[in-house]
Amino acid sequence: MKYIEPHAHMVSRTTADYQAIAQAGCEALCEPAFWAGFDRASAQGFYDYYRQLTEYEPARAAKFGIKHFCWLCINPKEAEDPVFAREVMAMIPDFIERETVLGIGEIGLNKNTRNELQIFEEHVEIAKKYDLPILIHTPHLEDKLKGTRLILDALRNADVDRDRVIIDHVEEHTAPLVLDEGFWAGMTLYPESKCSPARAIDILETFGMERIWMNSACDWGISDPLAVIKCALEMKKRHHSAEIVEKVIFENPKSFLSQCPNFAL
Ligand SMILES: [Zn+2]
Repeated sequence: MKYIEPHAHMVSRTTADYQAIAQAGCEALCEPAFWAGFDRASAQGFYDYYRQLTEYEPARAAKFGIKHFCWLCINPKEAEDPVFAREVMAMIPDFIERETVLGIGEIGLNKNTRNELQIFEEHVEIAKKYDLPILIHTPHLEDKLKGTRLILDALRNADVDRDRVIIDHVEEHTAPLVLDEGFWAGMTLYPESKCSPARAIDILETFGMERIWMNSACDWGISDPLAVIKCALEMKKRHHSAEIVEKVIFENPKSFLSQCPNFAL
């Protein structure tokens, strides 16, 4: 089945994973900058990470016929120290013009602190300055609802173009908040936490198939690089038509990502 993986952390994955997702029908894959499973010792660590995202991973993906794109930022988990965060953010302009960069992300909140919110707002300003879309990470578990509300408040104040902002890791209680305000929503499929395929399909059936995508995140933790395609098969089992499945796993991400000047299949 043809699909787009709109959110995957391939720096944590093996080449065999690239092979598997290519065989499953993946045509393009997007990798947001995030925590790599450990805190970097210096801002310079992000320079190498941005090189990995813009040079090495696109070359690795291309060997399997997959187009690799990325988003740049300092993730909220490592943004608690604003001095450190700004040192990293000062490097973004050196990479933002590279040909596979989609926009600013995944920015957002982790523990909903004042510092995280400040750095989030400064990232939004960078995106506005370069006229680029934004990909947003929402916190986990008990922090999710409050974090999502804080993010929505900040976006209202920043007066962003809602068509070009996607708020990821939505669940049953946050999907309607995001969609009702005219933003895009992402659902992250995990074997253990976040959304299972069954929950994701329930969310689609409840809130509709518009302005929403699914991703596997597939990071350093327990996660599944084939989660999107497994969920698509689950949708077919529930008798969703081939057109609807293709809309969710291919057409929707394509529509959102086509707003990024560098995205092309
Ligand atoms: Zn992520």
